Parts: sequence; C-alpha cells; structure tokens
Amino acid sequence: MTTIANNLQQVQGRIAQACAAAGREAGNVLLLAVSKTFGPDAVAEAALAGQRAFGENYIQEGVEKILVLRDMPALPGSALQWHCIGPIQSNKTRLVAGHFDWVHTVDRLKIAERLSDQRPEGLPPLQVCIQVNMDGGATKSGVPPAEALALVQAVARLPRLKVRGLMSIPDVAPEYAAQLAVHEATRQLFDRIAASGVDGLEAFDTLSMGMTADLEAAIQAGSTMVRVGTGIFGVRPRPAA
Ligand SMILES: *Cc1c(COP(=O)(O)O)cnc(C)c1O
Repeated sequence: MTTIANNLQQVQGRIAQACAAAGREAGNVLLLAVSKTFGPDAVAEAALAGQRAFGENYIQEGVEKILVLRDMPALPGSALQWHCIGPIQSNKTRLVAGHFDWVHTVDRLKIAERLSDQRPEGLPPLQVCIQVNMDGGATKSGVPPAEALALVQAVARLPRLKVRGLMSIPDVAPEYAAQLAVHEATRQLFDRIAASGVDGLEAFDTLSMGMTADLEAAIQAGSTMVRVGTGIFGVRPRPAA
C-alpha cells in the first residue's frame, strides 16, 4: 500500500472512532482530501485508493489539477468531486464557477452573485457553504455569525447556486475542550439557520468543519465534512496562504 493510501485508511479510522465516540454513524461524515500544494500525481494516488472528494485553496492551481486529472487514463475522471475552500477574489469567480462542484468560502453576496451569473448552463448548480468567522481569529475571512442568516437567505435566492450549509476555519486551539466549544457554536448557528424557515434551504445539510488537528472535536460537535490535508498528503511543501 502506498503512503497516501495508508494515510487515508488511518484518517478514515480516526473518523470512524470519533463517530463511534459521539454516537454517530460513520457514513455521515464525508472526508474531503485537501490537496493544495500537492501535484496531480498525489491526487491520482488518493483517487486510486478510493478517495473521491478533493479540496483546493488556490484557484488557478486547482483548475490546472482538475483539467489534468480529467484526462488521466485509469482514473474515474469525472467521478472526482472538486471543492473550492480558499478565498475567492472577484476576478477568479468565473474560473471557480466553471470548474468546481462545491464552494465552501462564500462570505459576501457580491461573490455569490457572480458565481451564480457565471455558472455554465450545462453544469448542475454550484453547491455552496457560507463561511462563518466564529472565533474572530487570525483567519479574518468569513461572515460574522450575526450576519450569517441574512447572507444565507440572500444566497438561497440565487438561481444557479444551492446553499448546502456552513463552513468554518477556527484557529486550532491546543486543548480539546476549546476546539469543541468553537465547533459547538458553529453547530448551534447551523441549527438556528436550518430551523429559520427561510426558502431555498431544503438541502441545508452540510457542516464543513474540522481539519487534521481537530477533526475529533469537530465530529463530536456535528461536522458532516472534515477537510484533511496534512493527515493524508503529509507536510505541505510550501506554507498555506
Ligand atoms: C489547508 C486547509 C485545510 C487542511 O488543513 P490540514 O491541517 O493540513 O489538515 C482545511 N481547510 C482549509 C480551509 C485549508 O486551507
């Protein structure tokens, strides 16, 4: 077994254990493999080991990988699912709308409107999570929690987007209790929005939270999608933005 295949198995093991500890079914937490800074060969290796969903932070780099992987023989090409999990500038929305299946980092209506306008006719609606800045931490991206419902409501009206849930990237605290507290706060916000009665939320089912260092706490708090990079591909060759 390759290192990546072996790492995938270990991470799936962590997810299964965390689900068991939380009394949740393991099938309810999707593993997103964060392949930023790693080349197409690493993605191909993970795909051959059965991984299907991949997350990319840098738009240009991600699109290049998507195109290479699509043309790789022996791979389930179009079976791969691509998630944009990095910040999106206005001049990159067309690339995102044209190539990705999911976007986790919508935190402004203007970006959402551009993504909806630019989503090609032949593709299904872009699946969108609203990024929330739960801890006001060093990662300043994300809508403040108090403004999340209004943004969800506005984005839910856009024709070529489907609002799927919330995403957060809290600074990882060293202690489990602190990790759990911030993820719980995100889950409670998610529950409030899901129960708000806003139109267009029939598929509001996704809580994208938890990374290599804090996926156990995220799963205990209710995460449905953990985004794991280092735990699968190893330490990144260059620092993350
Ligand atoms: C890089 C990144 C991850 C993965 O982080 P690891 O600590 O390597 O697991 C997850 N989410 C986002 C938004 C990222 O930028």
